[in-house]
Parts: sequence; C-alpha cells; structure tokens
Amino acid sequence: AREALVQAQKMEAVGQLTGGVAHDFNNLLMAVLGSLELLRKRLPDDPKLTRLLDNAVQGAQRGAVLTQRMLAFARRQELKPETVDLSDLVRGMADLLQRSIGPLVRIETRFPLGLPRVMVDAHQCELALLNLTVNARDAMPEGGTITISGREAAETDATVLPEGRYVCLSVADTGMGMDAETLARAQEPFFTTKGAGKGTGLGLPMVQGLAAQSRGRFLLRSRPGEGTTAEMWLPMAEGSATREEAPSAVPPPRAP
Ligand code: ADP
Repeated sequence: AREALVQAQKMEAVGQLTGGVAHDFNNLLMAVLGSLELLRKRLPDDPKLTRLLDNAVQGAQRGAVLTQRMLAFARRQELKPETVDLSDLVRGMADLLQRSIGPLVRIETRFPLGLPRVMVDAHQCELALLNLTVNARDAMPEGGTITISGREAAETDATVLPEGRYVCLSVADTGMGMDAETLARAQEPFFTTKGAGKGTGLGLPMVQGLAAQSRGRFLLRSRPGEGTTAEMWLPMAEGSATREEAPSAVPPPRAP
C-alpha cells in the first residue's frame, strides 16, 4: 500500500509538472511559429532559404504536437466532482485503510446520521483520506487510535472558511504532533521529515490541492507530543441540507 501511495503521489506531481511545462512550451512554440510565418513573407525568393524556413516550421510544429500530447496527459488528472456521502466513502475504504496502516493502529469512525453530502472527486478524496491516514499512522510508531470523522460547519468555523456551507472530513491522531516550524512547512511540496525512500513530501500538498480545487479548505492543527488533526473542509452538495432545513411534507399554514 505504501508503494501504491508513493506511486500515486509521483504521478500526481508529474502530471502537475507536465501540465505546467507543456503549457509554457505550447505558448512559446506558437510565438515561434507566428514569427516564422511573418519571416516567410519578407524572405527573398530563394529556394535554399525557403527550405531552411520549412525545416524550422516543421520542427516547431512537431514540438507543438508533442506539447499537445503532454497537455492531454496532464488533463487526465482533472477533477470530476460529484455528490459524495462521506460516511459511505469512508465505510467503503475501511478494509483498505486498516490494511494500509497495519495492526498496531486502530481506526475509529464518527459520522452523524444525516450528515449532508459534499461535492468532491470521489476517487481523489479517497486518495486524500489514505494520505492523511498513513500520515497519522506514521506519527504513532507505538500504536494508537486514528479517529476519522465528519461534521457540518458550525458558526465558530465560519472564521476560517469562505462564504458558503461546508462539511468537514477530519483525521485525528494522538501521535508525536508537529513543532511550529514543521507545521508551517508541512504543506510545501517535497517537504518531508521521514527521510529518503520513506517520504515524498507530496501527500499534504495533494490533499491541500484537492481541497482548494474543490473550493474548500485544508487545515492542520497540531501540538508536539499531543497529536495532529487534519481537516478537509468540502462544500456541501446542492440540495443536501440537514433534516431541520429540508422542506417539511406539510406546508406551514399561510396567513391569508
Ligand atoms: P510525507 O508523508 O511523504 O513526509 P506529507 O506531505 O504527507 O509527506 O507530510 C509532510 C510532513 O508533515 C511529514 O514528513 C511530517 O513531518 C508532517 N506530518 C504530516 N502529517 C503528520 C501527522 N499526522 N503527525 C505529525 N506530523 C505530520
């Protein structure tokens, strides 16, 4: 499971890098092609010069086809948001999660009945949850309990959230925690304290990126020696309000 996770993180990073590089190269090549066409109009009628120019145009065009292919590859990482019941998602992953963290650490889940559903790419959300759970396990080498829970945003959460309604998926551990410097840098790409071969430093950037792209937020709370809580806030799905707010079957009496 560790290898699969590292592999997925590398693919994600490669996808993002490729997308950025391909995009810049594409713009560059378009400028080159444009300039070459302008040059053609001013070129004296000389077959030798024309052939050189044709070669340059062909080269740039081949480059453009390549960058298009790279862009197509990078685009495969694009998100497909859908309505997701987080409680179902976590239940569906329970076995995989437990197998990924070994027998020393126990997973507890807490999801209130009727928790509103969220808009997120389900597969990426599973990957994010796997990342957070493995991080929590790594913070508890002697074993312990990981609590995965869901809750709707309360008024007190509004200060850290953009306008709108949110549901929080959180992963809490009672592990080593992070000092202020580690906490400040934890979400940087390639930042890891796990040593070569063990950490990629791409887990939290992936989770943070998913939350941001889903129009949510990712928050880390941690105290050295006490533990860490990772919170992924995701926007509530349309029409997924709580029971109190769902339209009642009997319409309230209306004043004449
Ligand atoms: P990696 O797990 O490969 O190191 P991450 O981006 O997932 O990469 O995490 C970056 C760093 O943040 C970790 O190396 C660790 O120092 C710290 N960290 C992440 N999650 C936790 C946690 N639950 N408890 C303590 N430290 C953590």
